[in-house]
Amino acid sequence: MITIDNLYKRFDKLEVLKGVSLSIDKGKTAVIIGPSGSGKTTLLRCLNLLEMPDKGTITLGDKTLQITENSRLKQGEIVSFRKQTGMVFQSYNLFPHLTAIENVMEGQVTVLKRSKDEARKKALSLLEKVGLQDRADMYPFQLSGGQQQRVGIARAMAMDPEVLLFDEPTSALDPELVGEVLKVMKDLANEGMTMVVVTHEMKFASEAADQVIFMDDGVVVEKGTPDEVFNATKNPRTMQFLNKVA
Ligand code: ATP
Repeated sequence: MITIDNLYKRFDKLEVLKGVSLSIDKGKTAVIIGPSGSGKTTLLRCLNLLEMPDKGTITLGDKTLQITENSRLKQGEIVSFRKQTGMVFQSYNLFPHLTAIENVMEGQVTVLKRSKDEARKKALSLLEKVGLQDRADMYPFQLSGGQQQRVGIARAMAMDPEVLLFDEPTSALDPELVGEVLKVMKDLANEGMTMVVVTHEMKFASEAADQVIFMDDGVVVEKGTPDEVFNATKNPRTMQFLNKVA
């Protein structure tokens, strides 16, 4: 279960999140859509404290953070909150000097203190899950963008997170490689992983999301099932956005 209540974030004078509230049930997939600059990525980064919100409340699993303008979170609090999330980045962010399997092992060994044997076993099973068991010993430069992103997903899963966060995971990919990544994501959604996905892939949103969240100008304008948002919206801002991306 994820709950965000009245979240605010500004960069200097630019107010990017202006009181965002939403909730996502355990095992469900929420897809965040909206125009460029509406605050989608910032919201996702606030969820795992890569950006520190200015104020608001975030609950992830059994941990609740109440952030006020005066609160100073300790590094330990931030790390233990972040541990509950796995992040998949637009630009993969794999370690270039580590092989695929080493990338998936790294956080398990350094952050979770798993033994190398245990981490390797888990990494292999996750690489198998994303269809890359035969590429385990290759370096990122030897893999296609789609394969690198699938390693990125395996790496995020390896930390056994409460929730997987995806920040435009297919935006950097050649069009013919997008499908293989979306398929892995759909499989995870069907298996009951809790996921929050920022994407411009409307087809993925309509097929895989339990909840579609439309953001514009730092607020949640509308949220609902894919059918409610894509086919039955009465909100003029949502309609205008959907007409543009259709
Ligand atoms: P896109 O779909 O183009 O990725 P988005 O909805 O994800 O857009 P954000 O990336 O959250 O939007 O950015 C929202 C606004 O915040 C933008 O105007 C952006 O320039 C600004 N912004 C984001 N990160 C920072 C930062 N670290 N410092 C200053 N401004 C930032």
